[in-house]
Amino acid sequence: MEKVVSGIRSTGNLHLGNYFGALKNFIKMQDDADCLFFIADYHSLTTHPDPTQLNGNVRNVLSEYLGAGLSPEKSTIFIQSDMPEVAELYLLLNMHAYIGELERTSSFKDKVRQHSENVNAGLLTYPVLMAADILIHRATQVPVGKDQEQHLEMTRQYARRFNSKYGVEFFPEPVAYNFGSELVKVPGLDGSGKMGKSTGNGVYLVDSDADIRKKVMKAVTDGGPTEKNSTPPEAIENLFTIMSLVSTPEILSQFRGAYADCSIRYGDFKKQIAEDMVTTVAPIRERIFEVRSNEKYLSEVAAHGAQKARQSAQATVSAVREIMGIKRF
Ligand code: AMP
Repeated sequence: MEKVVSGIRSTGNLHLGNYFGALKNFIKMQDDADCLFFIADYHSLTTHPDPTQLNGNVRNVLSEYLGAGLSPEKSTIFIQSDMPEVAELYLLLNMHAYIGELERTSSFKDKVRQHSENVNAGLLTYPVLMAADILIHRATQVPVGKDQEQHLEMTRQYARRFNSKYGVEFFPEPVAYNFGSELVKVPGLDGSGKMGKSTGNGVYLVDSDADIRKKVMKAVTDGGPTEKNSTPPEAIENLFTIMSLVSTPEILSQFRGAYADCSIRYGDFKKQIAEDMVTTVAPIRERIFEVRSNEKYLSEVAAHGAQKARQSAQATVSAVREIMGIKRF
Protein backbone atom coordinates (compact mmCIF):
# COMPACT_ATOMS: atom_id res chain seq x y z
CA MET A 1 0.00 0.00 0.00
CA GLU A 2 1.26 3.48 -0.88
CA LYS A 3 2.30 5.67 2.03
CA VAL A 4 0.86 9.16 1.72
CA VAL A 5 1.76 12.21 3.82
CA SER A 6 -0.13 15.46 3.81
CA GLY A 7 0.45 18.64 5.79
CA ILE A 8 -2.50 20.75 6.85
CA ARG A 9 -2.10 24.44 7.56
CA SER A 10 -2.78 25.40 11.16
CA THR A 11 -4.42 28.80 10.73
CA GLY A 12 -7.85 29.95 9.57
CA ASN A 13 -11.20 28.24 9.19
CA LEU A 14 -11.88 25.82 6.37
CA HIS A 15 -14.07 27.09 3.54
CA LEU A 16 -15.93 25.18 0.84
CA GLY A 17 -12.89 25.57 -1.46
CA ASN A 18 -10.78 23.62 1.02
CA TYR A 19 -13.58 21.10 1.52
CA PHE A 20 -14.42 20.29 -2.10
CA GLY A 21 -10.92 21.03 -3.43
CA ALA A 22 -8.91 19.03 -0.90
CA LEU A 23 -10.58 17.57 2.18
CA LYS A 24 -13.23 15.47 0.42
CA ASN A 25 -10.44 13.83 -1.58
CA PHE A 26 -8.45 13.22 1.60
CA ILE A 27 -11.44 11.52 3.18
CA LYS A 28 -11.67 9.13 0.24
CA MET A 29 -7.89 8.65 0.07
CA GLN A 30 -7.97 7.18 3.59
CA ASP A 31 -9.54 4.01 2.18
CA ASP A 32 -6.97 3.63 -0.59
CA ALA A 33 -3.64 4.36 1.10
CA ASP A 34 -1.72 4.37 4.38
CA CYS A 35 -2.29 8.06 5.18
CA LEU A 36 -0.55 10.40 7.60
CA PHE A 37 -2.04 13.87 8.13
CA PHE A 38 -0.30 16.41 10.30
CA ILE A 39 -1.16 19.92 11.37
CA ALA A 40 1.80 22.06 10.40
CA ASP A 41 2.25 24.27 13.44
CA TYR A 42 6.05 24.58 13.06
CA HIS A 43 5.48 25.87 9.52
CA SER A 44 2.98 28.45 10.74
CA LEU A 45 5.67 30.04 12.93
CA THR A 46 7.33 31.40 9.79
CA THR A 47 4.46 33.87 9.36
CA HIS A 48 2.23 33.62 12.49
CA PRO A 49 4.54 33.56 15.54
CA ASP A 50 1.85 34.43 18.11
CA PRO A 51 1.99 32.27 21.28
CA THR A 52 -1.51 33.35 22.37
CA GLN A 53 -3.04 32.04 19.11
CA LEU A 54 -1.01 28.97 18.19
CA ASN A 55 -2.63 26.30 20.35
CA GLY A 56 -6.18 27.52 19.75
CA ASN A 57 -5.59 27.54 15.99
CA VAL A 58 -4.29 23.98 16.05
CA ARG A 59 -7.29 22.86 18.10
CA ASN A 60 -9.73 24.54 15.71
CA VAL A 61 -8.14 23.05 12.63
CA LEU A 62 -7.91 19.58 14.19
CA SER A 63 -11.59 19.65 15.11
CA GLU A 64 -12.55 20.84 11.62
CA TYR A 65 -10.71 17.99 9.92
CA LEU A 66 -12.05 15.41 12.34
CA GLY A 67 -15.58 16.82 12.18
CA ALA A 68 -15.50 16.81 8.37
CA GLY A 69 -14.41 13.20 8.18
CA LEU A 70 -10.70 12.50 8.67
CA SER A 71 -10.58 9.34 10.74
CA PRO A 72 -8.01 8.61 13.47
CA GLU A 73 -8.85 4.90 13.08
CA LYS A 74 -8.07 4.83 9.35
CA SER A 75 -5.21 7.36 9.32
CA THR A 76 -2.41 8.72 11.47
CA ILE A 77 -3.41 12.23 12.48
CA PHE A 78 -0.90 14.23 14.49
CA ILE A 79 0.44 17.68 15.32
CA GLN A 80 3.81 18.40 13.68
CA SER A 81 5.43 19.72 16.89
CA ASP A 82 4.39 16.55 18.78
CA MET A 83 6.97 14.73 16.64
CA PRO A 84 10.24 16.60 17.38
CA GLU A 85 12.23 14.08 15.30
CA VAL A 86 11.23 16.16 12.28
CA ALA A 87 13.27 19.07 13.64
CA GLU A 88 16.39 16.89 13.69
CA LEU A 89 15.84 15.63 10.15
CA TYR A 90 15.25 19.24 9.05
CA LEU A 91 18.62 20.21 10.56
CA LEU A 92 20.39 17.32 8.85
CA LEU A 93 18.74 17.97 5.46
CA ASN A 94 19.65 21.64 5.71
CA MET A 95 23.29 20.58 5.26
CA HIS A 96 22.40 19.52 1.72
CA ALA A 97 20.07 22.38 0.78
CA TYR A 98 21.68 25.14 -1.24
CA ILE A 99 20.86 28.78 -0.52
CA GLY A 100 20.65 29.62 -4.25
CA GLU A 101 17.90 27.10 -4.95
CA LEU A 102 15.96 28.13 -1.83
CA GLU A 103 16.11 31.79 -2.82
CA ARG A 104 14.73 30.95 -6.26
CA THR A 105 11.64 29.14 -4.89
CA SER A 106 8.51 31.00 -6.01
CA SER A 107 6.74 30.63 -2.64
CA PHE A 108 9.76 32.27 -0.96
CA LYS A 109 9.72 35.15 -3.42
CA ASP A 110 5.96 35.61 -2.77
CA LYS A 111 6.46 35.53 0.99
CA VAL A 112 9.25 38.11 0.77
CA ARG A 113 6.82 40.42 -0.98
CA GLN A 114 4.01 39.75 1.54
CA HIS A 115 6.11 39.79 4.73
CA SER A 116 8.97 42.12 3.84
CA GLU A 117 9.29 43.09 7.52
CA ASN A 118 10.04 39.51 8.60
CA VAL A 119 12.07 37.58 6.01
CA ASN A 120 13.35 34.94 8.42
CA ALA A 121 15.48 31.84 7.78
CA GLY A 122 12.43 29.67 8.51
CA LEU A 123 10.72 31.14 5.46
CA LEU A 124 13.79 30.52 3.32
CA THR A 125 14.10 26.91 4.46
CA TYR A 126 10.37 26.15 4.41
CA PRO A 127 10.85 23.62 1.55
CA VAL A 128 13.48 21.79 3.63
CA LEU A 129 11.06 21.37 6.54
CA MET A 130 8.41 20.25 4.08
CA ALA A 131 10.86 17.71 2.65
CA ALA A 132 11.61 16.51 6.19
CA ASP A 133 7.84 16.15 6.87
CA ILE A 134 7.56 13.80 3.90
CA LEU A 135 10.89 11.99 3.95
CA ILE A 136 10.72 11.25 7.68
CA HIS A 137 7.98 8.72 6.91
CA ARG A 138 9.67 7.64 3.68
CA ALA A 139 6.38 8.44 2.00
CA THR A 140 5.90 7.59 -1.67
CA GLN A 141 3.05 9.98 -2.48
CA VAL A 142 1.89 13.44 -1.49
CA PRO A 143 -1.49 14.97 -2.37
CA VAL A 144 -0.41 18.40 -3.60
CA GLY A 145 -2.21 21.25 -5.29
CA LYS A 146 -0.58 23.18 -8.16
CA ASP A 147 0.84 25.66 -5.64
CA GLN A 148 2.93 22.94 -4.00
CA GLU A 149 4.40 21.19 -7.04
CA GLN A 150 7.70 23.05 -6.83
CA HIS A 151 8.11 22.05 -3.18
CA LEU A 152 7.54 18.42 -4.05
CA GLU A 153 10.16 18.64 -6.78
CA MET A 154 12.60 20.01 -4.19
CA THR A 155 11.75 17.11 -1.87
CA ARG A 156 12.67 14.69 -4.66
CA GLN A 157 15.88 16.64 -5.22
CA TYR A 158 16.84 16.34 -1.52
CA ALA A 159 16.03 12.62 -1.49
CA ARG A 160 18.14 12.07 -4.63
CA ARG A 161 20.99 14.20 -3.34
CA PHE A 162 21.07 12.38 0.00
CA ASN A 163 20.99 8.96 -1.66
CA SER A 164 23.74 9.82 -4.12
CA LYS A 165 25.95 11.66 -1.62
CA TYR A 166 26.01 8.70 0.77
CA GLY A 167 25.75 5.96 -1.86
CA VAL A 168 22.49 4.57 -0.45
CA GLU A 169 18.97 3.88 -1.70
CA PHE A 170 17.35 5.14 1.45
CA PHE A 171 14.77 7.79 0.63
CA PRO A 172 12.10 7.08 -1.99
CA GLU A 173 11.38 9.99 -4.35
CA PRO A 174 7.76 10.91 -3.60
CA VAL A 175 5.35 11.75 -6.40
CA ALA A 176 2.02 13.59 -6.45
CA TYR A 177 -0.95 11.51 -5.34
CA ASN A 178 -3.23 10.92 -8.29
CA PHE A 179 -6.85 11.47 -7.28
CA GLY A 180 -7.99 9.84 -10.50
CA SER A 181 -9.90 12.90 -11.66
CA GLU A 182 -9.35 16.62 -12.18
CA LEU A 183 -9.28 18.59 -8.94
CA VAL A 184 -12.23 20.95 -8.70
CA LYS A 185 -11.62 24.64 -8.33
CA VAL A 186 -14.34 26.19 -6.18
CA PRO A 187 -15.19 29.73 -7.33
CA GLY A 188 -16.05 32.65 -5.06
CA LEU A 189 -19.55 34.07 -4.64
CA ASP A 190 -18.32 37.51 -5.70
CA GLY A 191 -17.87 36.63 -9.34
CA SER A 192 -14.17 35.88 -8.81
CA GLY A 193 -12.52 32.70 -10.01
CA LYS A 194 -11.52 31.21 -6.66
CA MET A 195 -12.89 30.97 -3.16
CA GLY A 196 -10.11 31.88 -0.74
CA LYS A 197 -9.63 32.83 2.86
CA SER A 198 -7.82 36.09 2.14
CA THR A 199 -10.35 37.30 -0.43
CA GLY A 200 -13.31 37.41 1.98
CA ASN A 201 -15.56 35.53 -0.49
CA GLY A 202 -15.73 32.23 1.37
CA VAL A 203 -18.47 30.13 2.91
CA TYR A 204 -16.97 28.39 5.93
CA LEU A 205 -17.75 24.97 7.36
CA VAL A 206 -18.54 26.67 10.68
CA ASP A 207 -20.87 29.31 9.19
CA SER A 208 -24.41 29.37 10.60
CA ASP A 209 -27.38 28.57 8.35
CA ALA A 210 -28.33 32.27 8.42
CA ASP A 211 -24.82 33.34 7.39
CA ILE A 212 -24.75 30.86 4.53
CA ARG A 213 -28.12 32.09 3.24
CA LYS A 214 -27.03 35.71 3.54
CA LYS A 215 -23.76 35.09 1.66
CA VAL A 216 -25.42 33.18 -1.16
CA MET A 217 -28.26 35.70 -1.58
CA LYS A 218 -25.62 38.44 -1.94
CA ALA A 219 -23.77 36.55 -4.69
CA VAL A 220 -22.97 38.60 -7.79
CA THR A 221 -25.31 38.06 -10.77
CA ASP A 222 -26.34 40.10 -13.81
CA GLY A 223 -29.53 41.19 -15.61
CA GLY A 224 -30.25 37.63 -16.79
CA PRO A 225 -30.00 35.88 -20.17
CA THR A 226 -31.64 37.67 -23.10
CA GLU A 227 -30.89 35.15 -25.86
CA LYS A 228 -31.79 31.48 -25.80
CA ASN A 229 -28.94 28.97 -25.35
CA SER A 230 -26.37 31.67 -24.58
CA THR A 231 -23.20 30.93 -22.62
CA PRO A 232 -23.44 32.27 -19.06
CA PRO A 233 -20.90 34.94 -18.07
CA GLU A 234 -18.27 33.99 -15.48
CA ALA A 235 -20.20 35.07 -12.35
CA ILE A 236 -23.23 32.97 -13.35
CA GLU A 237 -21.16 30.00 -14.47
CA ASN A 238 -19.48 30.14 -11.05
CA LEU A 239 -22.87 29.75 -9.40
CA PHE A 240 -23.60 26.74 -11.60
CA THR A 241 -20.25 25.24 -10.53
CA ILE A 242 -21.17 25.76 -6.89
CA MET A 243 -24.61 24.27 -7.52
CA SER A 244 -22.98 21.22 -9.10
CA LEU A 245 -21.16 20.62 -5.80
CA VAL A 246 -24.07 20.99 -3.38
CA SER A 247 -27.22 20.15 -5.37
CA THR A 248 -28.43 17.00 -7.13
CA PRO A 249 -27.77 16.56 -10.88
CA GLU A 250 -31.54 16.85 -11.50
CA ILE A 251 -31.76 20.27 -9.84
CA LEU A 252 -28.64 21.42 -11.67
CA SER A 253 -30.06 20.43 -15.05
CA GLN A 254 -33.42 22.03 -14.21
CA PHE A 255 -31.68 25.40 -13.60
CA ARG A 256 -29.36 24.94 -16.60
CA GLY A 257 -32.49 24.43 -18.67
CA ALA A 258 -34.13 27.54 -17.20
CA TYR A 259 -31.02 29.56 -18.08
CA ALA A 260 -30.99 28.18 -21.63
CA ASP A 261 -34.64 29.13 -22.26
CA CYS A 262 -34.29 32.48 -20.42
CA SER A 263 -36.89 31.62 -17.79
CA ILE A 264 -34.40 31.52 -14.90
CA ARG A 265 -35.13 33.71 -11.86
CA TYR A 266 -31.93 34.42 -10.00
CA GLY A 267 -33.76 34.76 -6.68
CA ASP A 268 -34.99 31.14 -6.95
CA PHE A 269 -31.61 30.01 -8.27
CA LYS A 270 -29.78 31.46 -5.26
CA LYS A 271 -32.39 30.21 -2.79
CA GLN A 272 -31.94 26.69 -4.12
CA ILE A 273 -28.14 26.92 -3.84
CA ALA A 274 -28.42 28.36 -0.32
CA GLU A 275 -30.73 25.57 0.89
CA ASP A 276 -28.60 22.81 -0.64
CA MET A 277 -25.48 24.41 0.80
CA VAL A 278 -27.06 24.52 4.24
CA THR A 279 -27.97 20.83 3.89
CA THR A 280 -24.33 20.05 3.01
CA VAL A 281 -22.67 22.21 5.65
CA ALA A 282 -24.99 21.94 8.68
CA PRO A 283 -24.21 18.32 9.67
CA ILE A 284 -20.47 18.92 9.21
CA ARG A 285 -20.67 22.07 11.35
CA GLU A 286 -22.53 20.20 14.10
CA ARG A 287 -19.84 17.50 14.21
CA ILE A 288 -17.08 20.11 14.26
CA PHE A 289 -18.62 21.82 17.29
CA GLU A 290 -19.19 18.49 19.00
CA VAL A 291 -15.55 17.46 18.50
CA ARG A 292 -14.28 20.91 19.44
CA SER A 293 -16.02 20.83 22.81
CA ASN A 294 -14.60 17.41 23.65
CA GLU A 295 -11.13 18.23 25.04
CA LYS A 296 -10.52 14.66 26.14
CA TYR A 297 -11.22 13.23 22.68
CA LEU A 298 -8.99 15.82 20.99
CA SER A 299 -6.07 15.14 23.29
CA GLU A 300 -6.48 11.38 22.89
CA VAL A 301 -6.48 11.70 19.09
CA ALA A 302 -3.36 13.90 19.18
CA ALA A 303 -1.51 11.62 21.61
CA HIS A 304 -2.38 8.45 19.70
CA GLY A 305 -1.42 10.06 16.36
CA ALA A 306 1.90 11.33 17.72
CA GLN A 307 2.76 7.94 19.13
CA LYS A 308 2.12 6.22 15.77
CA ALA A 309 3.91 8.92 13.76
CA ARG A 310 6.97 8.89 16.03
CA GLN A 311 7.56 5.20 15.42
CA SER A 312 8.39 5.65 11.75
CA ALA A 313 10.07 9.01 12.42
CA GLN A 314 12.43 7.53 15.01
CA ALA A 315 13.38 4.67 12.72
CA THR A 316 14.18 7.11 9.87
CA VAL A 317 16.18 9.55 11.99
CA SER A 318 18.20 6.80 13.54
CA ALA A 319 19.03 5.34 10.10
CA VAL A 320 19.94 8.81 8.76
CA ARG A 321 22.25 9.42 11.72
CA GLU A 322 23.95 6.13 11.03
CA ILE A 323 24.31 6.88 7.30
CA MET A 324 25.74 10.36 8.04
CA GLY A 325 28.21 8.94 10.56
CA ILE A 326 26.64 10.24 13.78
CA LYS A 327 27.32 7.45 16.23
CA ARG A 328 26.97 7.23 19.97
CA PHE A 329 30.10 6.48 22.00
P1 AMP B 1 -5.40 27.37 1.49
O1 AMP B 1 -6.67 27.54 2.24
O2 AMP B 1 -5.28 28.43 0.44
O3 AMP B 1 -4.18 27.19 2.33
O4 AMP B 1 -5.59 26.03 0.66
C1 AMP B 1 -5.34 24.73 1.14
C2 AMP B 1 -5.70 23.74 0.03
O5 AMP B 1 -7.13 23.77 -0.17
C3 AMP B 1 -5.10 24.08 -1.35
O6 AMP B 1 -3.81 23.50 -1.54
C4 AMP B 1 -6.12 23.47 -2.30
O7 AMP B 1 -5.89 22.08 -2.45
C5 AMP B 1 -7.43 23.66 -1.55
N1 AMP B 1 -8.16 24.86 -1.98
C6 AMP B 1 -8.13 26.10 -1.42
N2 AMP B 1 -8.99 26.95 -2.04
C7 AMP B 1 -9.58 26.24 -3.02
C8 AMP B 1 -10.57 26.52 -4.03
N3 AMP B 1 -11.17 27.71 -4.11
N4 AMP B 1 -10.92 25.53 -4.87
C9 AMP B 1 -10.36 24.30 -4.79
N5 AMP B 1 -9.44 23.95 -3.87
C10 AMP B 1 -9.05 24.90 -3.00
